[in-house]
Amino acid sequence: MIVFGWGGGHKVLGEGFFVHCPNCGNATQWTVVETSKRISLYFVPVAKWSKRYWMTCSVCSGGVELPSRQFAQQVLAAALQDPTEIPEHLERTLIERFR
Ligand SMILES: [Zn+2]
Repeated sequence: MIVFGWGGGHKVLGEGFFVHCPNCGNATQWTVVETSKRISLYFVPVAKWSKRYWMTCSVCSGGVELPSRQFAQQVLAAALQDPTEIPEHLERTLIERFR
């Protein structure tokens, strides 16, 4: 019997910024997450596609989708330096996506 499955992957890339969550109202440090769809054969992933990047609230799991992997890496790098200070060029994109 061939064991064949498919589902979604979820990988935490690191810590994002402190955000006042518009969904649950808590101010917490959000997490940068990569999600993907995948096919696995005998529980070994053989194909992975449609990767998407998110910054999500650790309390309610609400969040915003980030436009690209590059953007996710910029968020991670900036949050590492100072998670309470969102650089202006990143903030503009994030605020647009909150609406
Ligand atoms: Zn929340």
